[in-house]
Amino acid sequence: MNLSSEIVRRLQKVLGTWSGKVPLHEPLFFGREKEYLSECVDTGWVSSVGKFVDRFESDLSSFTGARRAVAMVNGTCALHLALRLAGVEPGEEVLVPALAFVGTANAVAHLNAVPHFIDSESLTLGIDPGKLGEHLAAVGEMRGDMCFNRHTGRRIAAIVPVHVFGHSVRLIELLEVANRYGLPVIEDAAESMGSFYQAVHTGLWGKMGVLSFNGNKTITTGGGGAIICQDEKLADLAKHLSTTAKKAHRWAFDHDQVGFNYRMPNINAALGCAQLEQLPRFLERKRALAVAYADAFADLDEVRFVLEPPGTRSNYWLCTIALSPAFEASLSDVLEATNAAGLMTRPAWNLLSTLPMYTHCPRSDLSVASSLVRRLVNIPSGPALVPAT
Ligand SMILES: *Cc1c(COP(=O)(O)O)cnc(C)c1O
Repeated sequence: MNLSSEIVRRLQKVLGTWSGKVPLHEPLFFGREKEYLSECVDTGWVSSVGKFVDRFESDLSSFTGARRAVAMVNGTCALHLALRLAGVEPGEEVLVPALAFVGTANAVAHLNAVPHFIDSESLTLGIDPGKLGEHLAAVGEMRGDMCFNRHTGRRIAAIVPVHVFGHSVRLIELLEVANRYGLPVIEDAAESMGSFYQAVHTGLWGKMGVLSFNGNKTITTGGGGAIICQDEKLADLAKHLSTTAKKAHRWAFDHDQVGFNYRMPNINAALGCAQLEQLPRFLERKRALAVAYADAFADLDEVRFVLEPPGTRSNYWLCTIALSPAFEASLSDVLEATNAAGLMTRPAWNLLSTLPMYTHCPRSDLSVASSLVRRLVNIPSGPALVPAT
């Protein structure tokens, strides 16, 4: 059997025949997008103030169950601000998975802090709480209620789990380890809008959660992001810092600290309101696609379709197959064959610990993440790709 052509055959069985290329994940504008955007243009409210920003924040709260949501220009900026609010200082370390998007580590670096890379597990593709605990037992040293890296002498200030491709990490186990070492948890839920861990939305388990509404994410505002949290005071601070730390006043420009210009413009929020109205439908369609893929790959021993972990409900942002370890040498063949057949696929990101700006950073053993990046393939996942019947 030729594994690549077998994978192409099974993808085509699910997707049917498409003229042109099947994208990995493209946005879908089925709803009131044009209506809301026109309203912004017609009324002149296109920028940082306007009713859609307020509405988007309140709609985000309703959907996720967050007490508060604060909309930002993108997910990376939201993460930067969340880490700053969590008290991360220059020269400190932040634990992040090596298997993640570069934005996660960049947000740490933007604070002049240092990413400290942690291994992942095959089940969730996210941080392995067991391995995290072992690593902290080896390198962590408590001084009072603060954790220090005994090798570098730097404080370990926070941990940022990433819900990779929409699958939730094992949050209860991870929080237990984080609490043991006094580490605030900032969840990078950029990929997991609509994903739940034990019926609570991802991003609401730690101190704060961060969402992204980039064009390739489950819903889009063009570019955008948000901080979600259950703490009113933190949300107020996030809003204040993201609007240049300007004190509310009818005309005076008075600022009480070095703030950021990270607020989401009204025109992006308008798109977001229309997209949120359709989110339940997108999630249904993406789930139907995932179920069809799982079925199509069920009897192929060389390939595992990555299912939502037990106790979670995944948005299946990017559907993913994992080649079995014996077949990792076939990865480039599989990518070649699928893309040649017009089915857009891509490998997982290179491990962040291998990027030139992060090679000097501390890390745990990364054997599982290293193996996973040699075997993971993202397959077409957009809400328009309902399975062929
Ligand atoms: C998309 C993404 C981000 C960044 O979001 P942007 O809105 O693109 O800045 C951060 N982390 C992860 C894991 C992402 O997938």
